[in-house]
Amino acid sequence: MIKEEKSEEIATYTSKCPVCSRELTVKDYKYSVPFYGDIIISVAQCNNCGYRHRDVFTLSSGEPRKVIYKVEEPGDDNALLIKSSTCKIEIPEFGASIEPGTYSQGYISTVEGLISDLIEITDYLCNQENAPKEKCQEIKTMLEKARENKVSYTVIIYDHLGICDIVSSHKKPIYEKLN
Ligand SMILES: [Zn+2]
Repeated sequence: MIKEEKSEEIATYTSKCPVCSRELTVKDYKYSVPFYGDIIISVAQCNNCGYRHRDVFTLSSGEPRKVIYKVEEPGDDNALLIKSSTCKIEIPEFGASIEPGTYSQGYISTVEGLISDLIEITDYLCNQENAPKEKCQEIKTMLEKARENKVSYTVIIYDHLGICDIVSSHKKPIYEKLN
């Protein structure tokens, strides 16, 4: 995770808190990503109820697009994932997806970090009473193989605003138009 304190503050403004409806402060920071360029990190903080929301945007095209990134060899999963709260992420090989929602946050992580998050989420869901144990184990085994670079997989971002991306030092993702 990138700390906003290490980046340059570029704007401060007020907005309405979605939880308590009081006025809250939003600060935008500019952060430079290696091999990529500047991105914006936006942090909203409500001093009344403690609500905090973080989001991340690239400054790129703005065209609706699909970002497709294949992880095939060790090192491919070091790629940075710039994920805004509005983007959907899918890994079709594992039947896994992360949907955008009211409380979803934006973040910067590596693809490896995404796999670790998915393992955590799967663990949590599979510990629920009515979880399908067999299916759970199957998914977890695949994700663990992915973390150890033993299987190839594809990370797909559905990006309706054109503000999410995947950045690797040695490999470009495929961009497709999204309708
Ligand atoms: Zn509030």
